[in-house]
Amino acid sequence: MSLLVVGTVAFDQIETPFGKTDKILGGAATFIGMAASMLDVRAGIVSVIGDDFPQEYMDLMSSKNIDLSGIEKVEGGKTFFWAGRYRNDMNTRDTLTTELNVLENFQPAVPTGWKNPDVLMLGNLHPLVQKSVLNQLDARPKLVILDTMNFWMDHTWNELMDVLKDVDVLTINDEEARQMSKEYSLVKAAKKILEMGPHTLIIKKGEHGALLFHENNVFFAPALPLEDVFDPTGAGDTFAGGFSGFLAKTQNYSFENMKRAIIYGSALASFTVEKFGTDRLSELTEEEMVERLDVFKSLTNFDIELD
Ligand code: AMP
Repeated sequence: MSLLVVGTVAFDQIETPFGKTDKILGGAATFIGMAASMLDVRAGIVSVIGDDFPQEYMDLMSSKNIDLSGIEKVEGGKTFFWAGRYRNDMNTRDTLTTELNVLENFQPAVPTGWKNPDVLMLGNLHPLVQKSVLNQLDARPKLVILDTMNFWMDHTWNELMDVLKDVDVLTINDEEARQMSKEYSLVKAAKKILEMGPHTLIIKKGEHGALLFHENNVFFAPALPLEDVFDPTGAGDTFAGGFSGFLAKTQNYSFENMKRAIIYGSALASFTVEKFGTDRLSELTEEEMVERLDVFKSLTNFDIELD
């Protein structure tokens, strides 16, 4: 039951209509690892930080039983920094700054104890870094999931297409699915993207839920209608952490089980948006998670008679 995660461990600065943060803990791998840790899987992160990264943040992740031995610290280096501002609808955001810093020359090194994970979650990062992690493993994991974003499509399209050939599941948002496929219809987009390598595609639609495509099957999970969405940052990564963590825990990679995994991902993501950054995820209890899964169940369960 092991999940290896590669992705950013970062400083984020976030502005929403409700307020603005200083530099706080963020990064794709951080959210993925913290979400997966709710599912009792052995999770390890491969990433890089600068010597400006506070020990307090490392301690927080360790306290969640996340193995940090694959996080390299570059002396004299600066941690990856991202700043974004949400519009009033809270669904669209503008990136204000992306400072790659130590990520610019990052050569990932998978620690010895992590060369045989059950599931590999390639979080949003340079596709060459994603590929390098895959190549360092002793055997192909039972499931390889990749997340990416428009930034890498704009700057490293060929490298992205190359690594995509080796993955099982791709997770992207609706806008990125349209950009990747050059199709407006998400059903047409899914068909095109599934020809690029992955056998399964998840399209994240923020407050409108997530679509799961596999061969000719489609499944849809709504997002929980929340009274207040405070900060959507990390929701996509939390979703990916819940999804990959559930699959690593249950060791069942069928379409049916992926449906369950999507519900876990959505339930965990619904917590992340309730507070800034990782604040809500870091205080989350198992009871709260189970309660929310129950709410999801009643939200989506219905009987209908068909004759
Ligand atoms: P999301 O789940 O899409 O809201 O992801 C938000 C996280 O992605 C933030 O914590 C950022 O640190 C991280 N991030 C932003 N831009 C990039 C990028 N170009 N590459 C990798 N991670 C990024």
